[in-house]
Amino acid sequence: MSNKLEELRQQLDEINGKLLELMNQRAAVVQQIGEVKKQQGVNKYDPVREQDMLNRLVQANTGPFDDGTIRHLFKQIFKASLDLQQQDQKKVLLVSRKRQTEDTVVQVGEEAVGNGSSTVIAGPCSVESEEQVRQVAHALKQQGVRLLRGGAFKPRTSPYDFQGLGEEGLKILRKVADETGLKVVSEIVNPADMELAEQYVDVIQIGARNMQNFELLKAAGSTRTPVLLKRGMSATVEEFLFAAEYIVSRGNTQVMLCERGIRTYEKWTRNTLDISAVPLIKQESHLPVFVDVTHSTGRRDIQLPVAKAALAAGADGIMLEVHPNPAVALSDSNQQIDIEQFNKFMQEMRRAGFLNQELV
Ligand code: PEP
Ligand code: MN
Repeated sequence: MSNKLEELRQQLDEINGKLLELMNQRAAVVQQIGEVKKQQGVNKYDPVREQDMLNRLVQANTGPFDDGTIRHLFKQIFKASLDLQQQDQKKVLLVSRKRQTEDTVVQVGEEAVGNGSSTVIAGPCSVESEEQVRQVAHALKQQGVRLLRGGAFKPRTSPYDFQGLGEEGLKILRKVADETGLKVVSEIVNPADMELAEQYVDVIQIGARNMQNFELLKAAGSTRTPVLLKRGMSATVEEFLFAAEYIVSRGNTQVMLCERGIRTYEKWTRNTLDISAVPLIKQESHLPVFVDVTHSTGRRDIQLPVAKAALAAGADGIMLEVHPNPAVALSDSNQQIDIEQFNKFMQEMRRAGFLNQELV
């Protein structure tokens, strides 16, 4: 009796071996079909062909498995094959480390972003006047910061809130930046404004609310101006990387990513900073990663430790909002820091060894 069982088990092991070999043989053919379909530009999933194969298998079925079980088993095999083709496709994402192992370094004037040193982007939430931008620019310059931010086109939650100065704001940024030798980072919200952007800005910012504005992403991808892409407030890391892929796949490889907090139930911060996104994205992608310590926290009192945490987690830089007089700011008045607070912030970051920007 036990001999018989042994013998049957041996038979089963042999059949398992053959099934394994056949399934992998099948997978190899499926991969070849995937290649042919790619060359012909044909869709990978073909439901008519799948139905056809299932019908033929059921017709040929002599049992003991019933037709339903045969359908179920083969559907699993078909699905695994389709996943295999899609995995091949996934591997080729241009923003992935699997495609490029070395870090992308984005050169903005003299600032090399992503080369191991930490970059600071700072400036007011919105451009309000030439004098306002000039005061902040001088403070940045003194602290060795090279990248000046400021919103000219403001995507505001309420249509009744200050919408930004538009092109006039870009002109102010350019003028002041040229005076002080800084580079301009500013948000563009309309695909039709890309040419305008190229005239005035050194880095095109795409904001959280537009992370999946695919026409805007494509338009930014068609320029050769570096892009700072912010994570959508409800976007997964995967969606964030696909958004970056839209830009890079159009030929603009100069993309920097910015984690700016996501929406959760927490109310004591404006958003919840997803610190784990930093090492995760650095692992998955070769693009530089920033952390916006202002919009993620929405409060001044914890920006310093959050900035330290961001750089400790591997971020290539931080972004923060600085205003000469936050109390009268036309946007984000509760979270911007003034120039004195900015100087203290930079001093403490340097003292703690997180930044090596030279005092001018
Ligand atoms: C900004 O940085 O100016 C801004 C509006 O931030 P976010 O798009 O992350 O909300
Ligand atoms: Mn703001």
